[in-house]
Amino acid sequence: MFELKKAKCELQTILRGYKLLYSIDKDIIIYKALRAAIAVVSPYTTLYFTAQLISGIAAGKTFGQLMVYAALIVTINLIMSVLSRLVSRKIRIADQNLWNSISLYFNSVNMKMQYEHLENPATHLKRDRIFQAQNANGFGVMLLSWQVETFVNVIASIILSVALTLGLFTLKAPGEYHGMWNFVNSPLSALIILGLLCLNIITSIKMTGKSSAVFYNEIKNLADQNRVSFFYLELLGNYESAAEIRIFNESPLIQKSWLNYMLHPVYTTNIVRANARFARVQTGSGFVMNLVLYIFIGAKAYMGAFGIGNFVLYTGTVAKFVSAVTSLFDTFARLKNNNIYLREIFEYIDMPNTMYQGTLPVEKRAFCEGGDNDYEIEFRDVSFKYPASEEYALRHVSVKFHVGERLAVVGMNGSGKTTFIKLLCRLYDPTEGEILLNGIDIKKYDYDEYMSIFSVVFQDFKLFSFSLGQNVAASVKYDRERVKACLEKAGFGARLQEMPEGLDTCLYKDFEERGVEISGGEAQKIALARALYKDAPFIVLDEPTAALDPVAEYEVYFKFNEIVGNKTAIYISHRLSSCRFCDEIAVFDNGKIVQQGNHEELIADENGKYHELWYAQAQYYNT
Ligand code: ADP
Repeated sequence: MFELKKAKCELQTILRGYKLLYSIDKDIIIYKALRAAIAVVSPYTTLYFTAQLISGIAAGKTFGQLMVYAALIVTINLIMSVLSRLVSRKIRIADQNLWNSISLYFNSVNMKMQYEHLENPATHLKRDRIFQAQNANGFGVMLLSWQVETFVNVIASIILSVALTLGLFTLKAPGEYHGMWNFVNSPLSALIILGLLCLNIITSIKMTGKSSAVFYNEIKNLADQNRVSFFYLELLGNYESAAEIRIFNESPLIQKSWLNYMLHPVYTTNIVRANARFARVQTGSGFVMNLVLYIFIGAKAYMGAFGIGNFVLYTGTVAKFVSAVTSLFDTFARLKNNNIYLREIFEYIDMPNTMYQGTLPVEKRAFCEGGDNDYEIEFRDVSFKYPASEEYALRHVSVKFHVGERLAVVGMNGSGKTTFIKLLCRLYDPTEGEILLNGIDIKKYDYDEYMSIFSVVFQDFKLFSFSLGQNVAASVKYDRERVKACLEKAGFGARLQEMPEGLDTCLYKDFEERGVEISGGEAQKIALARALYKDAPFIVLDEPTAALDPVAEYEVYFKFNEIVGNKTAIYISHRLSSCRFCDEIAVFDNGKIVQQGNHEELIADENGKYHELWYAQAQYYNT
């Protein structure tokens, strides 16, 4: 009962895997099934017509009649070979596309994944394991695609073998037989032959099962080991880490770590030895089976149950039947072992998204579209704990701001500034309290629409190895003039003039020899230009001048109103002097807003946190 339940569960996993493969790339299933069906036709028609040919010779048919069989064999083989080549061409392309389609599928899963999971290192580990298992050993969805052909082939082979072998048991030798020769027509001998067939099949299945158990046992830790190994290998080949590795002479440390985890070959000596042992048993049992079969089929032919042609046919089809059934079980064994990897995939794609998915559209109110641009955001008594944390990162935060205002968020490291922004952008939902956009809980808005009203320059922003223009526009096609204007506003105008291919200059040298390496300050300006290009009503700048030199930093402050225009700017900084120009300053301390007001009001409170921070920093900066 338990075994049955387990088998059902395994079967369901395989079926779900195939549904997933079908949703990722249905062409590959169709083409492979087609090629398998084509592949099965030739050997069986050859066998069948060869048997007919031999029977014809024995029966003294004319040369012309015999040639019809020969022509049929040759023509069918030719047609099948041409069809197979045509389908193979499609498969070769589909096979390559499958790797890309799987990656694209996982990328789309990641894009929809709850941010909380995406930030969790355990999620990265899962994804790495899935891709390691796939790329190094072809497990997971890839293996499903490889087994389609074998599966269709063996099912078709079994059906054809059974259909063509029926005569072996139904045709009787004419006349009465006594003593030893009686066995040729006895139903008992048919049963013994069938029993032997089963025995041979069971031995084959057991040996294949054992051999794949050894294989999987040997390679079960391979994915994890290779993952670490790749990490160290990459580190040694990565030019970004080369400076540190040289200066601190870290190469021996990394090499040694790599040696500990060195890439492991899939076929170990243990697997090769075990395979040879199991193959010996299989060959032995096959020998006994064939011996008995040949005697039985030979005796029936000798006694006149059928002619020499059918002797050839039955010996061939029985052999094919045994091999097809063994392959069928082998396919199931492989698919069952692959289920470990499929379950990891399902676990990954099934990660629940507990964030409330609203449906309300966000009214488009930008000035440029003739709207009133009247957005109001309110944090109403918001508290928040990170999922894996006991501590509150934010406590009872209440704040309100309108579009067009400049809100500065200041406070020491760890005071909750970035968390505040993450909640504002709905990367997380508050644990308690609510955030309202124009009086409506932000959870009720359509998530993508809500995200579209924010533009953020994160403290640890990322630019990519695309052209400068594409980085700013975050798109392949873009408005070149607007990109230039945004770069100009962000203070990158002069540097743009020096870029060898202007907006088409590729950033970084990862893929492009003529790529340009940019400094941290330049990168920050490009990130700022990207935020401006999005033209969202809210612009959030998290320490936007941290990497800029003092002159560039001054320029950003000086031109801040011009840069931000009529948008709402939320400006995060631990440097108080850089927030003076904001209408409203919220001072964070230990997850709470402890003070709120403009610079003059806040500095006047001598016991306030702002006053304390201002004078603590004044000694380092000439404010
Ligand atoms: P700030 O931006 O002011 O430096 P943060 O908002 O990053 O501060 O952090 C506020 C608090 O939340 C800190 O105590 C920090 O350790 C904690 N915190 C930040 N990110 C996470 C996270 N992903 N998981 C758990 N705790 C976090």
